[in-house]
Amino acid sequence: MSDTFFGRAVKVLMVSAEYAPLAKAGGLADAVAGLAAALVKRGHDVRVLLPAYAPGLPTGWSRGAAAVANASVFVEASAGRPGPRVYQLDAPEIGAGGAVYAGDDRDAARFAKLCFAALDLPDAIGWRPDIVHCHDWHAALVPALLRTAEAPPSLAGARTVLTLHNVGYQGVFPESVLVQNGLGRLGALVADEDRADGAVVFLKIGIRAADRLTTVSPTYAREIRTPEHGMGLDALLRRRSADLVGILNGVDYGTWSPETDPFLEHHYGRAAPAGKALVKRALCARLALENDAPVVGAVSRLVEQKGIDLLIAAMPALLDSTAARFALLGSGDTPLEEALTALARRHPARVAFHRGYDEALAHLILAGSDLIVVPSRYEPCGLTQLYALRYGTIPVVRATGGLADTVVHFDPASGTGNGSVFEHADAQGLIWGLTTALGWHADAALRRRLIDNAMQADFSWDRQAPEYEKVYAELVGAAPPSDGGTARS
Ligand code: ADP
Repeated sequence: MSDTFFGRAVKVLMVSAEYAPLAKAGGLADAVAGLAAALVKRGHDVRVLLPAYAPGLPTGWSRGAAAVANASVFVEASAGRPGPRVYQLDAPEIGAGGAVYAGDDRDAARFAKLCFAALDLPDAIGWRPDIVHCHDWHAALVPALLRTAEAPPSLAGARTVLTLHNVGYQGVFPESVLVQNGLGRLGALVADEDRADGAVVFLKIGIRAADRLTTVSPTYAREIRTPEHGMGLDALLRRRSADLVGILNGVDYGTWSPETDPFLEHHYGRAAPAGKALVKRALCARLALENDAPVVGAVSRLVEQKGIDLLIAAMPALLDSTAARFALLGSGDTPLEEALTALARRHPARVAFHRGYDEALAHLILAGSDLIVVPSRYEPCGLTQLYALRYGTIPVVRATGGLADTVVHFDPASGTGNGSVFEHADAQGLIWGLTTALGWHADAALRRRLIDNAMQADFSWDRQAPEYEKVYAELVGAAPPSDGGTARS
C-alpha cells in the first residue's frame, strides 16, 4: 500500500445500483467502480454489492462462488484483476429485462430487495464491514434498516455513509410500498413532515439515518442546501450540514486515456497530441460528417437536467453563423430524441445524432471532437467534461455544480484556463460559450495552448480517494497523524 489510511485499513461494503462495466446507465457506475478500485489500491478491503439485472457478464468477467443467506443469493463476479470483490444479488424480483431501472413503482420492490440483501451479505460471506457505503436512493434504506431492531449482529458496529450522486432522483413512491415490501418497520423512521401527500421518499429516509453524507463536488454540496437546487431536500440537508461534505468524483484513467484507450484505433498523448486528428477523422468517417471544420460533441442522457434542449434551441443560429459539425450521442426523453433526429436529417453532413447507448462511440466522440458541450441546468459532478479534458477536447460547460469546479474559463491573455464556461441556462448563454470557444479554436496558437492546458488535467481517483478515507476515519475513530495530513508509508 503506498498511502496508509491514518495507519489502518478499513472494510467497506459499497451498495449501489450501478457498477461499471457490469451495470451502467450513467456516471454512477463509473464513480462507484473508480472509487472502489482506488480504495483497494490503497490497501482497503472493499466489497461491492449490486443487483444482477441480466444473466450474462461482460467479456473478461467470470462468475465465481455463490453464497446464500435468508432469501438472498449472491454471486461473486470477477474480472481477474486487482479490484474490489463484487457480489451480484441474484433475485427473480430484480430482473427488468436487463434494464437497471424500470422507471416505475416496481423499482421500490427491486431496490428494497437490494437493501435487505445488503444486511444479509456479511453473514453469507463471513465478513464484517466497518463501513457500509450506500450510493443514491437505491441503497438509501440500508442506513435506516441498520437502525431497526432487526439489524444483523454482524453489522452492529458498522457506520454508514450515504453518497448523493444526484438529488434529482429520490425514489418517491406511494407510502403503501413500505408495507408491501416488508419495510413496515421503517414507518417509524419516516418523519411526519415527509408524509404529506401519502408518498414516501427513500432518499430522505437515508439522509436522516446515515452517519455521514457526501456528494460529488464541493459546489453541488453548497447548491443542494439551497431551495433552487435542493429539489425539496434543502431544509433537511441544511440541518445535516455538519455531516455533509462534497468530494469531487475522480476519473479512472486506466479506462479513459488517449494513450491506451482500447476503443480507439489511434492513440496520442500530451507530448504528441497530433494523433488526435486521426481520431477526429475516424469519428467523422463513422458518423458521415464532413471533416473540414471544428467538431462539437455531446454524450449525454437526454433529460431536462442536461440542457440538451438548449443546444437544440441554439442549433439553427450555430449552424447559420459557424462552420461547426455536431457529433451527438444519447438517449432519453422522446421529444429530445425526435428533435435531434430531425436536425440530423435536415443537415446530414453537419449534424450526426446516434440515438442509444454506445460505449465505443462515447469514447470516439469524447476523443475525436474538438469541443464537447455540457449545457446542464444542474450537474452534481459531471464526468464527460473530465474525460474530454484528458483527450484534449475542450469542454464548453454551464457554471454549475462539478462543471464549475473543474472547468476554468480560458483567458487568452494569460494563457490560463481549460475550457469555456457560460452562466445562463438558455440558448444565448450556450451560443456565447460555444462561439467563444470556436474563436479560440480558430487561432492555432491559442488552440495548442488550450489543448495542452486541458490535457494536464489530473482528476484521478488516486487524488480523491483520500478524501473518502478522511470521512471513514472520522467514523471508525482513527486518529489523523499530528500534521493533519494522510500519512505516507
Ligand atoms: P450522469 O451520471 O448524470 O448521466 P455523468 O457526466 O456523471 O452524467 O456521466 C455520464 C456517463 O455516462 C459518462 O461515462 C458518459 O460517457 C456515459 N454516457 C451517457 N450517455 C451515454 C450514451 N448514450 N452512450 C454511452 N455512454 C453514455
